[in-house]
Amino acid sequence: MRLSRYYIPTLKEDPADAEVVSHKLLMRAGMIRKLTSGIYNYLPLGLRAINKVAQIVREEMNRAGALEVLLPTVQPADLWRETGRWDYYGKELLRFKDRNDRDYCLGPTHEEVITDLVRGEIKSYKQLPVNLYQVQTKFRDEIRPRFGLMRGREFIMKDGYSFDKDEAGAEQSYWDMFNAYKAAFTRIGLRFKPVQADSGAIGGSFSHEFMVLAETGEDTIASCLSCDFAANLEKAKVNAPKGAPADESVVPLMEEVATPGAHTVEEVCTFLGIPADRLVKTLLFVVDGKPVAGLVRGDRELNDVKLRNLVGGNEIELADEALVRKLTGAPVGFAGPAGLDPEVPIYADHELLAGTDWVAGANKGDTHVLHLALGRDCDIVQYADLRVIEPTDACPECGGAIEFTKGIEVGHVFKLGLKYSKKMEATFLDENGKSQYMIMGCYGIGVSRIVASAIEQNFDENGCCFPPSIAPFEVCLISLGGKDQDVADKAEELYAELMKLGVDVAFDDRGERPGVKFAEADLIGYPMQLVLGGKGLKNGIIEAKDRKTGEKVELPLDTFAASFADWRNQIWNNWGLETP
Ligand code: ATP
Ligand code: MG
Repeated sequence: MRLSRYYIPTLKEDPADAEVVSHKLLMRAGMIRKLTSGIYNYLPLGLRAINKVAQIVREEMNRAGALEVLLPTVQPADLWRETGRWDYYGKELLRFKDRNDRDYCLGPTHEEVITDLVRGEIKSYKQLPVNLYQVQTKFRDEIRPRFGLMRGREFIMKDGYSFDKDEAGAEQSYWDMFNAYKAAFTRIGLRFKPVQADSGAIGGSFSHEFMVLAETGEDTIASCLSCDFAANLEKAKVNAPKGAPADESVVPLMEEVATPGAHTVEEVCTFLGIPADRLVKTLLFVVDGKPVAGLVRGDRELNDVKLRNLVGGNEIELADEALVRKLTGAPVGFAGPAGLDPEVPIYADHELLAGTDWVAGANKGDTHVLHLALGRDCDIVQYADLRVIEPTDACPECGGAIEFTKGIEVGHVFKLGLKYSKKMEATFLDENGKSQYMIMGCYGIGVSRIVASAIEQNFDENGCCFPPSIAPFEVCLISLGGKDQDVADKAEELYAELMKLGVDVAFDDRGERPGVKFAEADLIGYPMQLVLGGKGLKNGIIEAKDRKTGEKVELPLDTFAASFADWRNQIWNNWGLETP
């Protein structure tokens, strides 16, 4: 490809609305343009990078036995009504009507459509398992679209779905996809980590997110410094404290104390002159329509996903002010486990077993209680792991130290079980002629987000440093010929030779000044730059620059093909990648 005929509208300045480096660089390098909030045009260079990611993903999916399909973007509401998601999905689902007043949506994901397809075609266990995937534009009306391709409203996803006849098969499908994802992200050249994620009603270890490690990530990962434990904060387990529960027999009788205007943990602690870890925090939730109370120590954060799973519900939300008043008889800020509405089951974080003589809300305005003993003064349904892990906690698996890092979610593998097949009647006849539900799994990769993530991991003050596997072009051949016809001719010859070698090359044959060419090549981030000038030609060499390290070497022109191949291998190897 000749840059003289290419379309790369580079920008000198960072766009005003770009907060993260990938957004700035994708815009400045002329790879994307914003159409409207969270919706982008992919320009020639940007699309090349996206297509390279998609190609690697396709190869790994195909290798794992998945089959590519392409499903419609427009989906009828009736399918979503079958699963209940028409009501439940909320505003991220963009809904509209056709000319006959029928409801439709733009697909944010395709469980309904794929289940509908498969239930109509697959009737016998002999036709299972089947694993179908697509690479397609998704639409989610995100509440806060931002960061360019990282969180768009319209974006490209690879989504895949597996259907199995039994548990063993479903597990196999899950781990096949898990391994295919590892292979794909490795080939792309990302530094990533699979982390345990919440699998809701399924339980077990059948949900993993693949996180690209980067400062700008919106997710936090807890990982062990000694073993390979890694989990997102929702999922990360916290073990029960060691030792016997605290002795409550020595605790004086509970008594009320006035705490006027002290609602928050901080206000109560300041008022009473106690540390936050002496307080029991009482949080009221509604799980699938029923009120539930969760207790954690005052200095901890309750993990609502853990509480929801413990209760066995699907949906959890904080109780609103009116409900808090109804259940406690007090304004928000004074709920406590003693004397709460007896209809409300109370679940306590297991850390609370290690202490006693607590301070808590009194279910009375401007009042708290002192000397609370949970076993003695309240009715706790269960003690369990209910809080969010903290960096000072021990690894739940080996007891080692953990660290918190930021991550960008680029993939998610999830066992769905019977969630959709039951609601949509996706059944088959088993070996005994008995009707069974198919066991499903779903698997997503953020194809366009990966291009942004790769930049977040690989850039410097001059621009992008793409891994060679997904760079729009692997090599930029820069001719500094100017009016020197010999240089121009030799550059043409090298361009032809590189193409013959099967290398993806951008040939900068433009009449621009050398400084402009160098700056643009750095900005776009071609992993390899080859620079031919008059002096080099005279000396029989071409200069070769590794974009990532900045290291320059001279390749002899008389043995160009061989010396370039060696150097190219080195570059790929430095990235930990295999030369194609
Ligand atoms: P997030 O928590 O980041 O919103 P999600 O849990 O909604 O992601 P999934 O429904 O699992 O994501 O979608 C599969 C993949 O699609 C994600 O792992 C992510 O890489 C990508 N993705 C999701 N939402 C967006 C978006 N708004 N823009 C770009 N990529 C996205
Ligand atoms: Mg999302």
